[in-house]
Amino acid sequence: MSTYADKVSITMPDPAAAGLLRRSDELSDRLLYMTQTLQTTLDIPALLEIFRLQCADNVPIDGIEYSNESLNLQYLIGSRSRHSCTYNLRLSDIGLGALLFRRRNKFTEAETIILEKLMCCLLYPLRNALLYRDALALAQKDALTGICNRAAFDDSLHNEVNLAGRHRTPLSIIVFDIDHFKSINDRFGHSQGDKAIKAVVHCAQQCARSTDMLFRYGGEEFVMVLRNTTQNGARLLADRIRRKIEKLECQGARKPIAMTVSAGVATMEPGVSAQKMSAQKLFERADGALYTAKNSGRNRVCVDE
Ligand code: GH3
Ligand code: MG
Ligand code: MG
Repeated sequence: MSTYADKVSITMPDPAAAGLLRRSDELSDRLLYMTQTLQTTLDIPALLEIFRLQCADNVPIDGIEYSNESLNLQYLIGSRSRHSCTYNLRLSDIGLGALLFRRRNKFTEAETIILEKLMCCLLYPLRNALLYRDALALAQKDALTGICNRAAFDDSLHNEVNLAGRHRTPLSIIVFDIDHFKSINDRFGHSQGDKAIKAVVHCAQQCARSTDMLFRYGGEEFVMVLRNTTQNGARLLADRIRRKIEKLECQGARKPIAMTVSAGVATMEPGVSAQKMSAQKLFERADGALYTAKNSGRNRVCVDE
């Protein structure tokens, strides 16, 4: 694998490459056009598609593959032909991933020089697209607990309701809320309260399966979205979380903070269409059950039947 930054710093335009261009300033025109078009999107697959089309105008290629191991990203645009040339993309000290050009027949030296020049145009737009991706992910995370926030919940529940309707599988949600949390803050202080919120999240995560999704809906209220889970399965899980939190020994400054939660459960049965059971309706049912749990004494699970 060659390092793109190394190649760029040592490679001067090769006169042999001129055979691929009609005029000596043609490459500059193409680079300018490439730079402009790559600035039109921050979506990584769309960016790669624009780049592939622009490259193919200059050097015949069958496909490009982009991978970024640390971000677990992998895209194939076009086809995966036999021959490839690979570049590690770097901007200063920042690794941006690896790019492979694919073709049935080998790339010539002159062609790789053109591709390297074209790749220069990709670096900043790709860096910006990766930063934008980070920013989007951050906007969906809750800063205190690191779990997904309400904005992410709204998107996910909507998707899960549609998927469950299409695949005719049950979908359940649990809404749970820490009991009398205001008094925990009042007695132990806000920073101990924050610790207690993190401990509740940790507890809920320990009870859940890898496909269960936990969100911080607001202050001390959380939602779990349970794919392919029946009403009974969700009730059992909610009660397991409730019992675990009841036994939790979250250490306060001087003495352990005792905590309980109340939970509401609602299920979208298999075969119900997303039109009949909207994400909002499912949430409202679980939230209603939570209020029943609060009003009937707290530290309990209620199910919307
Ligand atoms: P209930 O049993 O009816 O749910 O009573 P509650 O006291 O838990 O509910 P209430 O809505 O009256 O109070 C919630 C409290 O949670 C008030 C708010 O200051 C606190 N809170 C919300 N977010 C945070 C946070 O991030 N950190 C801390 N420490 N407290 C928070
Ligand atoms: Mg509460
Ligand atoms: Mg609350």
